[in-house]
Amino acid sequence: MPEELRGIGVSPGLGGGPVARMSPPPSLPEARAVVDPDQETAVAANALVAVENRLRERAAEVTGEAHDILDAQSMIAGDPTVMEGVAARIKDGADAPHALRDTFDEHRRTLEGLGGYLAERAADLDDIAHRAIAIALGLPMPGVPDPGHPFVLVADDLAPADTATLDPANVIGLITERGGPTSHTAILARSLGLPAVVGCTGALDVTDGTLVTVDGTTGQVRTGVGEEDVAEARERAEAERARLAGGKGPGRTSDGHSVDLMVNIGSAADLAGVDLTDVAGVGLFRTEFLFLDRHDAPGLEEQVAAYAEAFRFFDSGTIVVRTLDAGADKPLQFLGLPEEPNPALGIRGLRVARDRPEILDLQLEAIALAAAQTSADVWVMAPMVSTRPEADAFAARVRDHGLPTAGVMIEVPAAALRARQFLDVVDFLSIGTNDLSQYTLAADRQTGGLADLLDPWQPALLELIGGCAAAGKAASKSVGVCGEAAADPLLAPVLAGLGITKLSMSPRSLPAVRASLAEHTLAECERLAARALETGDAAEARAAVLAETTGT
Ligand code: PEP
Ligand code: MG
Repeated sequence: MPEELRGIGVSPGLGGGPVARMSPPPSLPEARAVVDPDQETAVAANALVAVENRLRERAAEVTGEAHDILDAQSMIAGDPTVMEGVAARIKDGADAPHALRDTFDEHRRTLEGLGGYLAERAADLDDIAHRAIAIALGLPMPGVPDPGHPFVLVADDLAPADTATLDPANVIGLITERGGPTSHTAILARSLGLPAVVGCTGALDVTDGTLVTVDGTTGQVRTGVGEEDVAEARERAEAERARLAGGKGPGRTSDGHSVDLMVNIGSAADLAGVDLTDVAGVGLFRTEFLFLDRHDAPGLEEQVAAYAEAFRFFDSGTIVVRTLDAGADKPLQFLGLPEEPNPALGIRGLRVARDRPEILDLQLEAIALAAAQTSADVWVMAPMVSTRPEADAFAARVRDHGLPTAGVMIEVPAAALRARQFLDVVDFLSIGTNDLSQYTLAADRQTGGLADLLDPWQPALLELIGGCAAAGKAASKSVGVCGEAAADPLLAPVLAGLGITKLSMSPRSLPAVRASLAEHTLAECERLAARALETGDAAEARAAVLAETTGT
């Protein structure tokens, strides 16, 4: 009998096929006495070389970000300081697996101490350690399985290195026990166009080879289904793809109410190969990617070149550039920010400019110079703004640099509540739902266990969005959404119904969002929004809107 599991649908679409689970990390046996330290050192060294080679081979098979992640990982495995630490521990009596574990743990603690983005890298170190330990124990290397046929990947959560190397041609869908709507798994699944369900309790108990169907819209996973169910899911997915591919034109409801569809990028490279027909522009240019992993800030020329390269894609469109969003989940080495107990509540985003105004000024100068080189309509906004004077001072600074359109992101509830007053001093607002949900629901966006609270369907979040949209309407100024919420096709009519006029998302999400908007009149969107606001939590809101739109 088929059974049903429920999680959060984070990447729409339907898929079905046999499950293959991520091989679990090896469990470390009891420490044993080492008889021959040289032999033990050779076991550890061989394991590290095998991991280094394997990761380098995988790096060579892929390009872009996946290549860089795997290449960096293979370099860590081959780093002589790692082997020195392992050899020293073996000399002190440890066996190879424990020496490997303890050495990587030490490096891990150092990274975790640095917090945020670098702490996320700690998961990469664990990944390398697990691989090396498995080899030292004579076990298969853990990681993404390769059953030799297409499969539905089930995992606890996915590490960046796993997600970077998934072959979309072989993976039908993703299911994870942990992870939330803004997790790495969710973002990757959306960018690959794979159906994905996260926070799915019980998923890891489904054994390899079991046939399942995955619905990335509703979060439903059916296990133990038959071949015919899988075939039907495939047919429906195929029909859906064909239907979406046929959808063209700018974003609008069925009665012609316009909602600009825009894309989120981290650099010009994200626009290469993307069909930009009917895309109104870039709704979020996350500039911090240019600053990551550096000891010094990029200079004026380098910044101008990077921005102009992206602006050139949109000679007749809008590009919304976000100034540096450093701190918390995006720590930047060169800033040397002080260690804080709660970085998400500390010096991040625009707050960095309190002590380091020159960084913001240099960036604004670069954006202005790049804007002057192209005819793109360049808007500039700041992240993590909490008060009107902050918004006012930022807008003044943007205009001082000759950039005419200044706005702020709404990521803090205080800002959402005061949207009307903010619009007295800025030209537009863009709602960062990833952060706005973390601060509204008091749930750390980096904690997978709180996925239900971070869910953008939370009525409290929707109410704040509605308030901002109403303020925008009253002031005749643009209010968009550029967080992950904008990529959810079921939520799109709700956001339009709340009064949002711009949705910015990863390019892959555009067809489904466009199609979903085109299925409803504005009045229907408004009714769906009202329905979602009446509910008690995210799950209820999603179920209520799904019931209204599909009659289920
Ligand atoms: C957001 O917070 O929703 C957002 C778009 O910014 P980021 O995810 O980069 O913090
Ligand atoms: Mg944010």
